[in-house]
Amino acid sequence: MTLSQPAKRYGVIGNPVAHSRSPAIHEAFARQAGITLTYERICAPRDGFAATIGAFFSEGGAGLNVTVPFKEEAFRLAEGQLSQRAAMAGAVNTLWMEQDTLHGCNTDGVGLLHDITRLGHAPKDRAILLVGAGGAARGVVFPLLEAGCARLHIVNRTAEKAQALSQHIIDHAPESVGRVTAGGLDHAKGPWDIVINATSSSLTSAPPALPGRLYAAGALAYDMFYASGPTAFMRQAQADGAGTVADGLGMLVGQAAASFAIWHGVQPDTVPVLETLRNALSEP
Ligand code: NAP
Repeated sequence: MTLSQPAKRYGVIGNPVAHSRSPAIHEAFARQAGITLTYERICAPRDGFAATIGAFFSEGGAGLNVTVPFKEEAFRLAEGQLSQRAAMAGAVNTLWMEQDTLHGCNTDGVGLLHDITRLGHAPKDRAILLVGAGGAARGVVFPLLEAGCARLHIVNRTAEKAQALSQHIIDHAPESVGRVTAGGLDHAKGPWDIVINATSSSLTSAPPALPGRLYAAGALAYDMFYASGPTAFMRQAQADGAGTVADGLGMLVGQAAASFAIWHGVQPDTVPVLETLRNALSEP
């Protein structure tokens, strides 16, 4: 007689979280790897994140992805056991228990780099414009710099937030002085090789108020937001002459793959999972 191990329990925690595609992604990765697991959506009360994750892990939960609005709270709760990526980003999207201690990492930057590279626009030696200075932008700035971009210019509707993010980078990586600059949206003057939209403006179906002529020949316009069709930012970029436009579905799959690798020690193949997800998103 063989005794099978109970399936390990994983999930994504946020508020709201009903829209999350993480269960389908992790279940597909698990099928690839021959791993049995459960992966659920957990909606925590906005003032009840710590209690909810405490209950999850004390009941034997193995790992959690964290989404809006809890990434910064997750960072605080895992303080002391943070990966370097999470420590630099000030935000955590991947939690797990090791020797009864909560650990945290941020895989958003890895997911973005993975997808930009898949699209043939690896950041090395490129001039990059990053639009937005919220949690998603914080998660990707250090990975972009580490990937060797020539220049990183951060612009935001509230210019002071872009300047504060730029200062945060320089405080942690003083060698970035001169390579990292910041300003308001009207200080985005091109041309840029890669323009990344890390604002939530696409939620309102309106692009950020950027000036025209942003794109160098063949440049990539990347929207972290994703939808069934081209986003407002993608349409704006196409009209402004971007060579390639893409949404953030590949980043979503890439960040999930990096979380999966942390939890299970297996690097999944993102290509078929992205294809399935894209088809599902396009269905009416
Ligand atoms: P956040 O922390 O709330 O930050 C929002 C950012 O958007 C701020 O910079 C804000 O500017 C700006 N913004 C909002 N509305 C705007 C508008 N109408 N025009 C110009 N700027 C506007 O949000 P976040 O967590 O950084 O998320 C940002 C986006 O990234 C969301 O769409 C999210 O879905 C996406 N995301 C995708 C992935 C992925 O895997 N694909 C991962 C993470 C995030 P102010 O500072 O001026 O308010």
